[in-house]
Amino acid sequence: ELAPLRRALLSVSDKTGLIDLARALDARGVELLSTGGSARALREAGLAVRDVSEVTGFPEMMDGRVKTLHPKVHGGLLAVRGDESHVAAMDEHGIPAIDLLVVNLYPFEETVAKGGDYETCIENIDIGGPAMIRAAAKNHADVCVVTDVEDYDALLAELDAHDGQTGLPFRKRLAQTAYARTAAYDAAVSTWMAAAIGETAPRRRAFAGSLAQTLRYGENPHQKAAFYTDGSDRPGVATARQIQGKELSYNNINDTDAAYELVAEFGGDAPACAIIKHANPCGVATGGSLKEAYARAFDCDRTSAFGGIVALNRPLDGATAEEIARIFTEVVIAPGADDDARAVFAAKKNLRLLVTDALPDPRAPRLAYRQVAGGLLVQDHDSGFVSRDDLKVATKRAPTVQELDDLMFAWTVARHVKSNAIVYAKGGQTVGVGAGQMSRLDSALIAAAKAGRMGEALGLAESPAKGSVVASDAFFPFADGLMEAAGAGVTAVIQPGGSMRDDEVIAAADEAGLAMVLTGMRHFRH
Ligand code: 5GP
Repeated sequence: ELAPLRRALLSVSDKTGLIDLARALDARGVELLSTGGSARALREAGLAVRDVSEVTGFPEMMDGRVKTLHPKVHGGLLAVRGDESHVAAMDEHGIPAIDLLVVNLYPFEETVAKGGDYETCIENIDIGGPAMIRAAAKNHADVCVVTDVEDYDALLAELDAHDGQTGLPFRKRLAQTAYARTAAYDAAVSTWMAAAIGETAPRRRAFAGSLAQTLRYGENPHQKAAFYTDGSDRPGVATARQIQGKELSYNNINDTDAAYELVAEFGGDAPACAIIKHANPCGVATGGSLKEAYARAFDCDRTSAFGGIVALNRPLDGATAEEIARIFTEVVIAPGADDDARAVFAAKKNLRLLVTDALPDPRAPRLAYRQVAGGLLVQDHDSGFVSRDDLKVATKRAPTVQELDDLMFAWTVARHVKSNAIVYAKGGQTVGVGAGQMSRLDSALIAAAKAGRMGEALGLAESPAKGSVVASDAFFPFADGLMEAAGAGVTAVIQPGGSMRDDEVIAAADEAGLAMVLTGMRHFRH
């Protein structure tokens, strides 16, 4: 099961670690074959290397499109060492056996991420690299294939452990990685092409991911889990740097994503804070200082905020950190954290602090996936957006300027609340959130009850729902949910409209003296 290593082919775009690896192989007496740029780098480092073009008897041609696509290369990768006819074919045609293939591919994903134009992206599709990788991986019984710079050390350790040879389990593991790499590569190409040609429902779709972290467990301790990045450099939990704290859990990652996507809606102008529990906001606030935004988000539902996830839209400062540190918080994410803030949190060993260089762009187009038994649902990420100018006043009374501000705020929050979503807000602060109920009436009741509890907790004379506004993520099918909100004291309403009973709902709003605006767009979230 051990395979000797006499000859290696090195052909890499990312030359990180190449020289060290080649030196280590050279020191073990391995003959080095290589392609243009890689060979040049090796020679400059003083290593003896044979050009693939010398082996094939063909020059590299067509801007590098054809370098290694030749029977002398593929025969050397695919020949079964123990098969007499394969060995005879190698002898007859002068095909050198290649025992190790080290390839990393043209940087297609990076070229797309950098916004390369169509032709540049096309030119960055590697052809010979994946062909060699697939050949070597198929022939893992004899050949070792390395496709990640991160595996160079493991390869050398393997050679040390087996007297310069590689073991079959190691080659199998690398072959699996290799096929995942070529699959991911082509997935990136086809995903890019679908977008480039405006195809939203291509007949075939491919998906890819790279392991970011193995997780201790999934949503529950008996579920295994792992976290994969999708290769896009989008700011968010997948690309954030963890400054301190325990390892992120599955639920942490899911909730942190919900929190950061919500707070990003407010841009970076005025401070904003969102506190999330079980993927739903238990408090959101904007305005004032960052510390005040946090404190007001916290005030909305102090009980639920315990052990929550806090997202901020501005770099974390010391004063805000001190305020957050007063209760147990699982994760804090922000576009940066200053030294004071880091010093405050340093004493809180369990608190996970994540920072990104920028806020996510909530309007950036991307796809959202959801798995169902036997399939995958794919849709555009909900980046639909309604501005003040798009709102239609449905009632006799139009909202005041203050009401309009609060309506827009509540609407922004509501789209991040699981349906049925009802959000009461006042003065840039949520005062009651009803999430995830099977009837809109129940969500309205829960939001009102929560507002009442907020009033009690803060020692207010009356429920903060009084004089607040309400947002509903989808239309009111009946007037009952709306009447519940009116009873709780709201003065204005924002909702998509479009119900068969809109007239009835609007009449009820007029009757109660409410101002109601229609968005014409709903934001279900499940
Ligand atoms: P180098 O910098 O050594 O000139 O090129 C290395 C890159 O070329 C690697 O990313 C490798 O995957 C790629 N490559 C190797 N052979 C071929 C080929 O025949 N066609 C194309 N398009 N790329 C190749």
